[in-house]
Formats: sequence, C-alpha cells, structure tokens
Amino acid sequence: MFFLYENSCLLNWSKNKDFISCNFKNGVVKTKNIIFATNGFLKSLGIKSNYNFPITLTASMTRKLSDEEFKSIGEPKEWGVLPVRPMGATIRMTKDRRILIRNTAEVHSPFSMSKSILQKRSINQQIGIQKRFPQLPNNIIKSSWSGIVSRTRNSSQIFEKIDSNIYAVGCYNGSGIGVGTLFGEQIAFKAINEKTNEIKTIEARNKPTWLPPQPFLNLGIKTRLIYERLRARSEI
Ligand SMILES: Cc1cc2nc3c(=O)[nH]c(=O)nc-3n(C[C@H](O)[C@H](O)[C@H](O)COP(=O)(O)OP(=O)(O)OC[C@H]3O[C@@H](n4cnc5c(N)ncnc54)[C@H](O)[C@@H]3O)c2cc1C
Repeated sequence: MFFLYENSCLLNWSKNKDFISCNFKNGVVKTKNIIFATNGFLKSLGIKSNYNFPITLTASMTRKLSDEEFKSIGEPKEWGVLPVRPMGATIRMTKDRRILIRNTAEVHSPFSMSKSILQKRSINQQIGIQKRFPQLPNNIIKSSWSGIVSRTRNSSQIFEKIDSNIYAVGCYNGSGIGVGTLFGEQIAFKAINEKTNEIKTIEARNKPTWLPPQPFLNLGIKTRLIYERLRARSEI
C-alpha cells in the first residue's frame, strides 16, 4: 500500500536498528527504507552535508507582450539562451510571448525570502530586460519568485546508497529538470535492487568532492560568486 503526504515538512529523522523514524509536526512515520530527494534541502536534513550546498536563484516572467510590442522585437518564435558564464542570465521567450529571465544566484537562507529582497531582484531583472529590449515598457514583469538549487564543488550529482536502507539523490547544479527525472527514476530502481544500464552509467561518473565546513564554505562560495559576477558583468 502507498500513501502520499503532501505539504508535510520532515522536521528530523533518526535510524533505530532497521527502521527510520521520520518526525513531522503532526506525527511520526516509521519506515524500513527511505529515499531522500530534497535537492537543495539535502544538507538541512543532514544528508551528505559536506558535499552539497543550496544556492538561491530568482526569476521573473513578464505579462504577454502586446501585438505591437511583439512586432517591435521581431515577432520571434520561442527561444531560450543560456549564459556562457555561471553568473550570466538565462532568458527565454515563451510560446505565449512572455519573457522569462533569471540573472541572480546567491547565498541566502533557503527557507524564505522577504518581499522587499524579492522586489529588488525583480527590479534588477526588469533592468536586464530593458537593456536587451529598450523598446519595451519598464513595467512588464508580472511575476517574480525565488527557488533553491543544489550545488556540489565539482558539479557532479549525488546518487548514493548512504546506509543499508537509506538512499539519497539530488544536486543537479541548477539544471535538474531532465537529469533529475532520470536520477529519480534510477534511484528507485536501485532501492529495489534492480540493475539497469543507466545506473551503471550514473555510477561511473565522478562523485561529488568534499567541501570545507562553515564559515569557510560560505566565504569561499561568496568570493567565487563575486568573481563570477565580475566575469559575467557584460551580461544583462
Ligand atoms: C529560478 C530557477 C530556474 C531554474 N531553471 C532551470 C532550467 O532552466 N532548467 C533546468 O533543468 N533546471 C532549472 N532549475 C533547477 C531545477 O528547478 C531543479 O534542478 C529541479 O527542480 C530539481 O528537482 P528536484 O525534484 O530534485 O528538487 P526540487 O524541485 O527542489 O524539489 C525538492 C522538494 O523537496 C521538498 N522538501 C525540502 N525539504 C523538505 C523537508 N524537510 N520535508 C519535506 N519536503 C521537503 C521541497 O518542498 C521541494 O518540493 C531552476 C531552478 C530555479 C530555482
């Protein structure tokens, strides 16, 4: 029998002999096997703590461009561009004529972002759109949001049996839509001891490398982000 509990934050967990106890606000789940797939929150659950860290990204999407605005930018089909440098911008033109932009990556609490901080990022993204498309009005952002990605030092992913009945998967270094789907499927096969060619390929890859403890880690990440921001300063 399977149960799905949504909106249930795992507060902490512990292993007692062959069982894992998962503590939630309103109850405890005891299980024989567990797969941790919380990506940027793996570290906060004590999973592979010295091998991954969360980074906060913020993105904004505009309203649909009007016919006139759309004409002014050349009536393109949908497109997407990725940055050459890690701190550059990811920009997309959607099929329904919206511009989507992400041009921030920062060390920030993964648990929340205040409205005022989000607003500052949103203004920065409006300025970015304006730089590239000065013909568009300066108030076309409809929605801004922040989210968490997980990073490792060597851009490798976590895919591991970390104890006899505990598995962990995640850390897609900001591009997990495709990779994460594959890794999620394959860790489930691994947990039921099914062998696949994909598992072989995944496990032949480099494993994430060790990260120094705090405060050295954040100091290192912040310094690197400043350096990367400088290298990407010509981006929007
Ligand atoms: C702004 C932004 C733009 C991005 N753009 C791209 C892109 O263009 N292409 C791309 O491939 N990827 C992109 N990514 C990255 C992509 O979103 C992630 O790689 C992908 O979502 C990872 O999927 P996941 O299921 O492993 O983790 P997530 O989608 O992060 O899901 C983790 C889940 O774990 C839950 N969780 C965390 N802690 C707990 C807890 N204690 N108890 C219970 N549940 C918990 C969270 O609520 C969340 O639902 C972007 C990310 C952001 C933030």
